Amino acid sequence: MTNSSREAGGTPATLSFEFFPPATTEATMQLWRSVERLAPLAPSFVSVTYGAGGTTRARTHAAIRTIQDRARLAVAGHLTCVGASRDETLEVAETYRANGVSRIVALRGDPPKGAERFEPHPDGFRSAAELVEALAGRGFDITVAAYPETHPEAASPDSDIENLKRKLDAGADRAITQFFFEIDHFRRFRDRAAAAGIAAPIVPGILPIENFTRMARFARACGTNVPQWMETAFGNAATEQDALLLAASIATEQCDLLLREGVEHLHFYTLNKPDLTYDICRALGCEPKPLGMAAGTGAA
Ligand code: FAD
Repeated sequence: MTNSSREAGGTPATLSFEFFPPATTEATMQLWRSVERLAPLAPSFVSVTYGAGGTTRARTHAAIRTIQDRARLAVAGHLTCVGASRDETLEVAETYRANGVSRIVALRGDPPKGAERFEPHPDGFRSAAELVEALAGRGFDITVAAYPETHPEAASPDSDIENLKRKLDAGADRAITQFFFEIDHFRRFRDRAAAAGIAAPIVPGILPIENFTRMARFARACGTNVPQWMETAFGNAATEQDALLLAASIATEQCDLLLREGVEHLHFYTLNKPDLTYDICRALGCEPKPLGMAAGTGAA
């Protein structure tokens, strides 16, 4: 499906940015810098990740407060089911609400370091769908994860789509995808989702490549294909600056193609490094606004 108003490319209607909770003072400064750099692009929300087994619980809450205090942006707190009972998990959601956070990215979560498989807590949620079911009706705006190249543990691509449908039918408002580089994966996934009766927005997750080697390792773990031409191109980048220029141009083109496909919202995995994301958004025509006007409140 092509949106004719996008045929010559275009500017995303809405943006969102993902950050992770910092573990050191230096990393906290970097988060501040990232938020202050990206806030003028007026994201409709920003999100803060949640470590396996609640390892970042306190830090996630602290990072959310930092973002609210420094930029007054709408924040989505990520929430996982790993290593916690149902009550403990829902308590985190209620703490989000008490801190003015009504958006939740509801996830099963990855197994903690050292563990090979996800093992639910004896009294815990066994899947993101169960978590969504428990959160639904409590007044949260709920986002879930989607996998254009299929989640590595899924029995099949079809069962993974069925799982996405279960999460949305249970009350989620939208899905954000795992990062991917080939637009065809996204296009086919969106078509298969539509054929399965999914009508909720599927927001592409964009990963600007700060470090090719690190990205490739992560991609292998989460089942994202890295095309050979990208490996060759980064291998031929003579300097770090060349690699960053290449990364900006690859992600800008990827976003441009997605916008031509009718995508309206782009979600960026910033890794708390704002410059590439900022440059890509500017290249797409997003205009920074004075900070006082930047706080986005609209829905994705
Ligand atoms: P689920 O939707 O529960 O699916 C997990 C697997 O089980 C899939 O393979 C699914 O197909 C299968 N499955 C589930 N139910 C059934 C069923 N009834 N029958 C058959 N198969 C089933 N991780 C973190 O730890 N912290 C974060 O903050 C975080 N943020 C993320 C944000 C986004 C946008 C994305 C895309 C991922 C994020 N992750 C995060 C990673 C995520 O936790 C992992 O990918 C995890 O392995 C799966 O989580 P999920 O919510 O997709 O799980």
